[in-house]
Amino acid sequence: MSTEILEGIVIKTEDFEDYAQLLTIFSKNQGKFFLYAPGIRKESSKNKYSVQLLSKSEFEIFKSRLVDKTSKLKTGKLIHSFSAISKDFLSYLYAQAICDIIDLLTPYQLPDIETYQILEITLEAIEQDNEKFKKYILALYYLITLGGNKMMLDKCYRCRKPSTIYKRFDYKNHGLICPNCIYQNENKQKASFVRMIQQLGINTYNESLKRDFDIIDLIAFHNVLINYYSNEMGLHIYVFDQFKGTASVNVPKALEAEYL
Ligand SMILES: [Zn+2]
Repeated sequence: MSTEILEGIVIKTEDFEDYAQLLTIFSKNQGKFFLYAPGIRKESSKNKYSVQLLSKSEFEIFKSRLVDKTSKLKTGKLIHSFSAISKDFLSYLYAQAICDIIDLLTPYQLPDIETYQILEITLEAIEQDNEKFKKYILALYYLITLGGNKMMLDKCYRCRKPSTIYKRFDYKNHGLICPNCIYQNENKQKASFVRMIQQLGINTYNESLKRDFDIIDLIAFHNVLINYYSNEMGLHIYVFDQFKGTASVNVPKALEAEYL
């Protein structure tokens, strides 16, 4: 039986039978695939470090000839473990949310280098505490398209015309409102918040990585994205429930009015 070598990140693990695990890997060149890893829960297993959740590894596998069948692990060589992520509660939740979304929204074995890069960049940022919240929010926003969804942010959602400036973001319709279309009883939101969303609508992921965003704007947008995944896309990302009451979703009381 021939083997194949793939680089990938473990996004899900499930214990299976005696000492085995079923792994979901998101690979650099072949997208998501399932891997049966026998014996790896034995203390003596040489492969055990390569198959931990969030490990980036090189996997030598016996490839199933059937597309939807599980391949089998021969050897696994750890490249990087991202193990520091699990030591911090919020960091762990950020990583888990991104892994769950990729797991739920990507098809089996469809090469998708962009999603792999988003996953890798986000895990690196979370581990190194290098703009981790910003990069997590960007991942959440850009991964929406995996579900075939998109917020229409390149024009005013009411008059359908592009504008250089917008006055608010509508939480229900997930669209921007231009100065001509804002109703008298509507609040003009904080300019940096509206501008951030406007820029996300026209910039690529790589362009957005270079930008600076206000932390409270990101927190407010985190709530928007959590609601979007559950209400618009119908996905239940269970770690989102665990953000309740944490700093990652709480706009300080004194600033709430600017986001209404
Ligand atoms: Zn308008």
